[in-house]
Amino acid sequence: MEIKIDPEVEVALALPVNQILTYSLRGVDTGGRSDAHMLGMRVLVPLSGRQATAYIINILREKVACPEGREEKKYKIRSILRFLDKGALFHSNMLPFFKWISDYYHYPLGLVIKSALPGGLTQKTVSVIKRGEAPWDEKKLAGLIQEMPDWLQRVCQLGKLSFAESRSLLKESKNRTLLTKLEELGLVQIGQEQVGDSVREKNEICYHLLGLALDIDSLQAELSPETSQIEEFRQSLLSSITGKMLFSEAKTLYYLSYLAHKNNSTDVPRRDLLRLYPGAAKALVYLEERGLVERFQRRVFRNPFGDTLPFFPRIEELSPEQEEACSEIKKTIEGEIFAPFLLYGITGSGKTEVYLRSAEEAIARGRDVLVLVPEIALATQLEAYFVSRFGDLVVLQHSGLKASEKYDQWSLALSGRAKIVIGARSAIFAPLKNVGLILVDEEHDGGFKQDDSFRYNARDLAVLRAKYHSATVVLGSATPSVTSFYHAKSGKYRLLTMKNRIGSRTLPRVRVIDLNTRDKGKKKKGIFQPPLQTALKEVLAQGKQSILLMNRRGFSAIVLCRDCGEIVSCKRCNVSLTLHRHSKKLVCHYCGFSLPEATVCRSCGGANIVPVGFGTERVEEEVQKLLPEARVARLDSDTAGNREHFLKILQKMRDGQIDVLIGTQMIAKGHHFPGVVLVGVVWADGGMSLPDFRAAEKTYQLISQVTGRAGRGDSPGKVFIQTMRPDHYAIAFARNHDYQAFYEHEISLRQNPLFPPFVRLIAFHIRGENEGQVKNSAGNIANFCRRENRDKKLQVDILGPAPAPIDRIKDSYRWQVLIKGSCYEKLHTLCHRVESAGKELLLAKITMIIDVDPENLM
Ligand code: ADP
Ligand code: ZN
Repeated sequence: MEIKIDPEVEVALALPVNQILTYSLRGVDTGGRSDAHMLGMRVLVPLSGRQATAYIINILREKVACPEGREEKKYKIRSILRFLDKGALFHSNMLPFFKWISDYYHYPLGLVIKSALPGGLTQKTVSVIKRGEAPWDEKKLAGLIQEMPDWLQRVCQLGKLSFAESRSLLKESKNRTLLTKLEELGLVQIGQEQVGDSVREKNEICYHLLGLALDIDSLQAELSPETSQIEEFRQSLLSSITGKMLFSEAKTLYYLSYLAHKNNSTDVPRRDLLRLYPGAAKALVYLEERGLVERFQRRVFRNPFGDTLPFFPRIEELSPEQEEACSEIKKTIEGEIFAPFLLYGITGSGKTEVYLRSAEEAIARGRDVLVLVPEIALATQLEAYFVSRFGDLVVLQHSGLKASEKYDQWSLALSGRAKIVIGARSAIFAPLKNVGLILVDEEHDGGFKQDDSFRYNARDLAVLRAKYHSATVVLGSATPSVTSFYHAKSGKYRLLTMKNRIGSRTLPRVRVIDLNTRDKGKKKKGIFQPPLQTALKEVLAQGKQSILLMNRRGFSAIVLCRDCGEIVSCKRCNVSLTLHRHSKKLVCHYCGFSLPEATVCRSCGGANIVPVGFGTERVEEEVQKLLPEARVARLDSDTAGNREHFLKILQKMRDGQIDVLIGTQMIAKGHHFPGVVLVGVVWADGGMSLPDFRAAEKTYQLISQVTGRAGRGDSPGKVFIQTMRPDHYAIAFARNHDYQAFYEHEISLRQNPLFPPFVRLIAFHIRGENEGQVKNSAGNIANFCRRENRDKKLQVDILGPAPAPIDRIKDSYRWQVLIKGSCYEKLHTLCHRVESAGKELLLAKITMIIDVDPENLM
């Protein structure tokens, strides 16, 4: 039997639930929207007594075959409450992409969509504690409690509490018990209130002249608000209008014309007008009534670029290698086919220009461009290159922007006014409709992988998104990830190689300094070995610049008690604290916990706490001692706190106003400072001993990247690497700039035992406050996996359970189970099985996080 049903929609909830729910449009004002326009819209839906935000992902309007019991189900389907926006928040061509992601990363579809939207766009209901209907009765209260708590007094006085306070009160069961009783007496009420979006479009009120043919050019370009001048203006107006003209009205029109002339736009924001002449407020009302000016609203887009971005002119002549790369890429852009490229170009080979030319090509063909950069704190130079070349077509998406700016930039992309989006990993979801080119700069960077909640890798998704759009994707790097290079060699990606630096500049000479042969007898001479010290002095004397890399912020590596030898560790994590001398604190880098610098040892009570090892602050101090006259700057996540400051330091570095720049990995990437002739890696070994199969790869990349900052101008560069492991292959190959050899060595190591790219990994992170329960839950999961693996012959390897290398963070114990296998489907089958059995395997209050293709196993 076929029946006609009310139009229904399928929605994904912006909540951590996996089901797709169906709601009806019965009785809903759809504003006459067509089905296609409703896809991708945000709606408010009823959900077990509350309201929740959801996204429309499907519209069921056809007659459907009526299965048994359909009538009954239909009765139960509720209507959505309302639409939350004027239009869709994503283009419908993104849906298959979102669905794939949700499947692959085992993450709810609604939350995938939510992550793709700018923050602050989730409406929800929250509980608030309010005064009840019954009159306040102290006697009734006395029977319940001896003393009236503060908050209850405030409920009585104010009528209700804030969302935040209500939430925290409702968390505690003793309050809930009391509240239930109070509710029964009618004294209080726990109500539901809706909180709206925290970001909005910004509009401003503007005015323009109407019906007055003023000769604007004859007005003075210079403002001269003298009474006589305005009086003259008033007289001239009187001749062209009927009726009188007050002085204040004439003055308002005078400023209006002046601003219009100055901004070269007929529309003048009210705010600007009032700033010049506050009296305009009243006059404008009269002028509008008389039909001399018109008032209207226009949307304004908050501009995140500031004026700190440098300008880079277009380069007219390409190098032969650039020419070759560009022409390959151009072919696939023209062909509008899916084509993944790996652009392997050494530092200084001119990759940026290849990106820019390819973008020109795509834009010329009417297609959009997505540019992904690793999150290097707040900005990259690439941004400035794109803005220089494409101006208004470019928008930004990264964490350096304010929420309101992000929202505006995103809206410009959604509406099609912007054609190029540059951003950190989340920009992979940018709402560009017709993506023809995706560029991923520094594709090897671990920053493309999000490390909490939604653990996607934007570099991998770039390839996938390109496939959905039949687009070209270019992964660029001087030190490609082992996985990407493997794909390039096996033909999955097309390899483009650029082996030479622009202008036949040479790669810098690298010298490795063995820290083991330090003169042990003598008192330690600080952290720079003599050759590096000499070089630093020479470079300063020549008026050139140096960069010092120290991949750890703070002053020390650890702090310990000189009396008993105990390491001062965080109270909530199993990690040592780090001394931060500027803020005079011992800080935990994992949870932010801190103690004052002058602390006593928790184990013996001694007051002799000393810093051991070093971080960027200590390097800074030593540079100042060694080169007192040098201008020194430090860039790490402590100092790069805001984008303004970060951009300013980069600018000063380019202008030669800084002699020595010290920093963590954020100074290693991408920057082009022609004045830098010396790079020192203060301590290369930091990452090498980590229990991570990518430890050597990361070390190689970091050293090569920072090495690449030297000698990019006219003078050749020099590099010093200080290390305790001068023979380690990552260092030996980096010294010779031999990526290929590094790759061959590394790939052979990954074959036994098998690691990516030969297998894929999924990690289950098991966490909770009770150590025993975490351990047991991890054991259950591992056992379950082994049983399934055997029964279903999945040929998956199961590793663990084992405690994570850092086995406690923020009072939460951490265990892991790792599964690996070469067949992607089988791995995911097992993962789905674990997911659905999850509740039974995990003890109470223990949580499990699924991490597909994990980057960070700490
Ligand atoms: P990479 O990103 O590969 O390390 P860049 O793109 O930063 O290298 O280029 C290095 C420098 O060479 C930049 O200053 C850039 O402006 C310049 N450059 C690039 N291509 C050319 C060219 N064809 N002719 C002259 N200079 C170029
Ligand atoms: Zn901590």
